[in-house]
Amino acid sequence: MSGEKTRRPGFSTRAIHHAYDPYSPPGSLTPPVYMSSTYTFPTVEDGAARFAGEQPGYVYSRVGNPTTVLLERRIADLEGGEAGLVTASGQGATTSLLWTLLKPGDEVIADKTLYGCTFGFLNHGLAKFGVRITHLDMTDPRNLAAAIGPTTRIVFFESPANPNMRLVDIAAIAEIAHRHGARVVVDNTYCTPFLQRPLELGADFVVHSATKYLGGHGDLLAGAIVGPRDVLDQVRFYGIKDMTGAVLSSQDAYLVLRGLKTLSLRMARHCDNAQGIAELLAEHPKVEVVHYPGLDSFPQRELARRQMLRPGGMVACELKGGIDAGRRFMNALRLVTRAVSLGDAESLAQHPASMTHSFYTPEERRAHLISEGLVRVSAGLEDTDDLLDDLRQALEAA
Ligand SMILES: *Cc1c(COP(=O)(O)O)cnc(C)c1O
Repeated sequence: MSGEKTRRPGFSTRAIHHAYDPYSPPGSLTPPVYMSSTYTFPTVEDGAARFAGEQPGYVYSRVGNPTTVLLERRIADLEGGEAGLVTASGQGATTSLLWTLLKPGDEVIADKTLYGCTFGFLNHGLAKFGVRITHLDMTDPRNLAAAIGPTTRIVFFESPANPNMRLVDIAAIAEIAHRHGARVVVDNTYCTPFLQRPLELGADFVVHSATKYLGGHGDLLAGAIVGPRDVLDQVRFYGIKDMTGAVLSSQDAYLVLRGLKTLSLRMARHCDNAQGIAELLAEHPKVEVVHYPGLDSFPQRELARRQMLRPGGMVACELKGGIDAGRRFMNALRLVTRAVSLGDAESLAQHPASMTHSFYTPEERRAHLISEGLVRVSAGLEDTDDLLDDLRQALEAA
């Protein structure tokens, strides 16, 4: 080995090959799907040693299965983290992590704009158990510096935020949080590790809805957490095993592994289509404002360039006619499909005020910067011209 320089393989190579040896017997090119709920112990002493963590091996699939463990290693590698943990959904990832880390009396500081069910979990769930939830505008890190205190345990945000595309400076927020002994959790669903790696910028944990781009085909629900191994062990053996039971099935883990093989290709196409859509919308007289990090008009363009490889596949816009124009536009779409979720091959459009953020009261939506007329588009993988034709005709009808 002496003198031989080993270069780390690139992102696409690792997304296809990391942690699996296709030559291991019986030599299957693709990894097997282990459909077993439980595992055998040659002797009672082996069983005891495995329970005690003194012998490697599996015990029961609520705490690990070879197929889900392969996915965990692959996602952790792509995010640049020490360890990974996959869950039954993105919601299962966030809840399993936070139930493990928090206790009554702790504070969570979260950005003003969050995925609707994360907002619900914090404010309608955790808040009932004595955890204080504070929302602030994290697009200006000085707001965090002013609010953070000795009981702040977790700082939680998305960047870009769902659905209005506001960005948060991950490195600046992590620096402030760490000075006060708090841990930073970033929901990286919108970007995937192909476009943005929060751990490399100082975040402590990344959570994902793997339902979206990582799976990429709209055929499963899955989630992931990446972070330090000692904490993820606690999440595995307490948060998931005892608290949430949010276990990913091996078949869905296999489908996410399959999705990851094309992640870099898909993300490039999602970005191309989103850029085309954003430019069309930005020039259209019926559109008030477009939120997309790839437009020169985007207020945080410089931050986008600094922490994202490309501006992503999600576009948000506000139509001039408010909520009624938004409804007419949505109903006129023919190719772009009316549905929540994102990151699929199909382009999808949704209206947050009546769909993903309908759990909020109108006052909560206003306070959290989600306007009633906001429309969100997840750019799919279709031909750009077909998407633009459809959006043009729907805008005429708006
Ligand atoms: C979808 C989504 C979630 C929740 O993930 P599920 O897989 O639906 O449970 C969390 N955060 C963001 C940003 C999402 O888009």
